[in-house]
Amino acid sequence: MKQVMVVTGGGRGIGAATALMASRRGYAVCINYLRDAQAAELLRAKIVAEGGEAIAVQADVGLEADVLRLFATVDAELGPLTALVNNVGVLERQCRLTEMSVERLQRVFTTNVVSYFLCSREAVRRMSTASGGQGGGIVNLSSGAARHGGANVYIDYAASKGAIDVLTLGLSKEVAAEGIRVNCVRPGIIYTDIHASGGDPDRVARLASTVPMQRGGQPEEIAETILWLLGPQSSYVSGAIVDAGGAR
Ligand code: NAP
Repeated sequence: MKQVMVVTGGGRGIGAATALMASRRGYAVCINYLRDAQAAELLRAKIVAEGGEAIAVQADVGLEADVLRLFATVDAELGPLTALVNNVGVLERQCRLTEMSVERLQRVFTTNVVSYFLCSREAVRRMSTASGGQGGGIVNLSSGAARHGGANVYIDYAASKGAIDVLTLGLSKEVAAEGIRVNCVRPGIIYTDIHASGGDPDRVARLASTVPMQRGGQPEEIAETILWLLGPQSSYVSGAIVDAGGAR
């Protein structure tokens, strides 16, 4: 059976590592991106040059119309969906709660939470055996911040990730008898550009010594965990929240 994956925010960071690894393991992949068309296109070209199948689709997954277009494009160009990696995530400038504007809160919760609900809805509608689908898997990207709370830097981001843990628990039960497994990965501090967008580009190196393993993580280490959760080796695992943070 052809494996078809959507990776939201798949052009850079953990999403890009996941899309590339998935392609090398036989998935046809849809690389969704927001603004960085060049990064997404480079990755698509690399996958195709290696003999894989990939498309790159611009869509703001916080907007329902864009999500509908994204999934319709996958239906038409790649075929029936079998896997969704809800990976988008944004961090805003570090600050205390007393400094947070309502616009910031709406941006963070729309991108980090509403998009996961919308994309999961479209994926379940397609994959559920109750509606004629062939089953499949969903992996959500949470964060260790959901455990520590993000005090003084980004409580909003941490709370958005707490919502993703709960989405995973609830949805996994809702679709368990319909051939769909829903799991979640909580990365620790990983070498990607997300820290620069929070105003702290050296965050991983600075905090590495606070990690019991004494180092930050690589995007590929998270991609491995995601692919295990989507693959047949984890066939009895659903509703799991897997910490991948070097024991932090
Ligand atoms: P990243 O390097 O900043 O990449 C984020 C990706 O999301 C980019 O490809 C970006 O698109 C895309 N994106 C952002 N908003 C979007 C939207 N509205 N619609 C579509 N795409 C959108 O992030 P990352 O570090 O790889 O993080 C991936 C996930 O892991 C996130 O959920 C993050 O919260 C989580 N996580 C990361 C860490 C870490 O230390 N890195 C730790 C814990 C959890 P463009 O390329 O077009 O800009």
